Amino acid sequence: NEIVISARNLTKHYRVGGGTLAGQGKVVRAVDGVTLDIRERETFALVGESGCGKTTLGRIMLRLQEPSGGQISYRGQDITALDDAGMRALRKKLQIVFQDPYASLNPRMRIEDILAEPLRTHGYGSAEVIRDRCAELLDMVGLRHTYLRNYPHQFSGGQRQRIGIARALANKPDFVVCDESVSALDVSIQAQVLNLLSDLQDELKLTYFFITHDLSVVRQFADRVGVMFLGRLVEVGRTEDIFAGPLHPYTMLLISAVPRADPRQRTRERPLMTGEIPSPMNLPPGCRFHTRCPFAKDICRTHDPDLQDMGQGRAVACHFPLNS
Ligand code: SF4
Repeated sequence: NEIVISARNLTKHYRVGGGTLAGQGKVVRAVDGVTLDIRERETFALVGESGCGKTTLGRIMLRLQEPSGGQISYRGQDITALDDAGMRALRKKLQIVFQDPYASLNPRMRIEDILAEPLRTHGYGSAEVIRDRCAELLDMVGLRHTYLRNYPHQFSGGQRQRIGIARALANKPDFVVCDESVSALDVSIQAQVLNLLSDLQDELKLTYFFITHDLSVVRQFADRVGVMFLGRLVEVGRTEDIFAGPLHPYTMLLISAVPRADPRQRTRERPLMTGEIPSPMNLPPGCRFHTRCPFAKDICRTHDPDLQDMGQGRAVACHFPLNS
C-alpha cells in the first residue's frame, strides 16, 4: 500500500530551566531522530512508557507541534515547510482523537455545534448540508440523532469518546492519530470503541497511528508496532512477530510485564526492569537503555546503536538483538 505519512530523522528538542539562548538551561530530547513510514489502511501502534516522547511524536507528525528538525511528508508531499494556509487545506486529512473524552469536548456546546465546528471551518456546505452531515456522523459512531441537541455531560465516557471520533472524522480524514484514545475507558467499553474504530477503518479506508502504553490493546488491534524509549524508536515490526519474538531487550521486558490471561502462567517468574529510567535531559552515553538492560556489555555504554533493518519488515536498535 501507498505510504501516507513518512517521517525522516524527526526531532523535537526543547530547552527547560529558563534558558532561551544556546548554552542556557537544559535540553530535553523528547523526540530524537525518528524515521518511519506509515502505510495506507494500516494500524501502526506506537508504544512506550509515559515520558518516552510518543505523544510529542504523534503531534509533530500532524504538525500540531513544530519539529525542531527532520521532515514529514504526507503522500509524498513535504509538509514540514508548509505555511498556515497550506496546512489548513491539509488539516482535513490529518486528524487526532484525544485521550480524555471528558476534557476534549467543550461542556458548553451542544453536540451538533461540536460536530459542526470543523465542518464550518473548512466550508463543508450550507447549514442544512452541515446538519445532515452531523446526523450522519452520529450514525457512523452508533449514536442516535436525537443526541444532537444534548451537551457532553449527558453522555457516558464511551459515548463521549464516540463523539470525539465523530468530530475527528467530520471532514473525511485519511490519517488519524489516536492518542491513548481508549485508555480512560473500562475494559468492556474499550473493546466496543476498538471495534468501532476497526469498522470505521474498513468502511472509510482510514490509516491509524495508535499511541498507547497498553500492550494488550496493541496485540488485539495493531498491524505493526513501534517501540519508543526516551525519544528513539528502538524496535519496529509486525505485531505478531514482535509478540512472538521481540528483538530489543526493552520490548521483551515490556511484553513480559503484561498480565497474562491464563492464570497458570501468572505465577511464572517474569524478568523485571531494574535501574532508573535516565532523564531525557541527561541521557547516558551509548545505548540509552543500558542502565536498565540485563544484557548490557561494554560497547553499550559507549556506542549508541542505530535502528538497523533486520529484513521482513523488522528493525531494531541494539548491538545484541535477541532471538536473531
Ligand atoms: Fe541492551 Fe546493549 Fe542492546 Fe542497549 S545495545 S539494549 S544496552 S544489549
